[in-house]
Amino acid sequence: MRALIIGATRGIGLGLTQRYLADGWHVTATARREADLPQLQSLGAKPLKLDVTLPSSIMSMEWVLAGEQYDLVIYVAGILSRGPATAVPTQAEFDLVMHTNVLGMMQLLPCLAPKLANQHGKWIAISSGMGSIAEAQSSANWLYRVSKAALNMAIRSAAFDYPAVTFAALCPGWVKTDMGGPQATLEVADSVQGLRQVIAGLSLADSGCYKNHLGHSLSW
Ligand code: NDP
Repeated sequence: MRALIIGATRGIGLGLTQRYLADGWHVTATARREADLPQLQSLGAKPLKLDVTLPSSIMSMEWVLAGEQYDLVIYVAGILSRGPATAVPTQAEFDLVMHTNVLGMMQLLPCLAPKLANQHGKWIAISSGMGSIAEAQSSANWLYRVSKAALNMAIRSAAFDYPAVTFAALCPGWVKTDMGGPQATLEVADSVQGLRQVIAGLSLADSGCYKNHLGHSLSW
């Protein structure tokens, strides 16, 4: 089985890479910096340089990955933006967060979806409970919330155009990573274990779903 994990240098992406390798999968794992590629190689993954905000990097995937096939693509790359709705983001902040968290995945889709075992495969976006409009309890991390809500819609609607691919937006829980911070409730390994099981259990009938790492459906 073959997986492509996008954003694999740290945190949940690194944990997913280690998990799938330990389970005997062939894993292609991406890093945006050259200096991070040896780390991925030493784990046993096939390292691939990809910055999801660079058009040249996205466009290079067409020929760099020519002939490759995957059973699973996981889009993990993401950045946090703090601040409530009273702190209006600058154009540059908005562009960077939306580009990393949403547009990068949208731009990779036409190139990578056909590589999903002749389109019979799974496409996962690591979203967040903060992308839930129905469950919002505050405006904390306002721009981040906006980006994850948009990511959720990108996943939900892509399921219509690639009907043989199983799409899911998955929340990993609150995880102890650089983004989640030390107060988070979950270790990376526990989140990844849950995500791994949820992903394994997904079928085409679930395509376009929004779930957490325990497999519970989340409200949009
Ligand atoms: P980290 O900050 O630890 O890791 C983020 C990853 O995204 C890194 O590998 C980083 O690479 C990569 N990345 C950032 N920008 C780019 C880019 N332009 N191109 C390619 N890769 C990029 O975060 P987490 O592991 O905590 O988060 C992973 C995902 O899970 C994110 O999408 C996040 O929103 C989501 N999530 C996390 C939660 C948590 O509690 N931790 C909760 C809910 C959702 P680099 O090392 O080069 O910066």
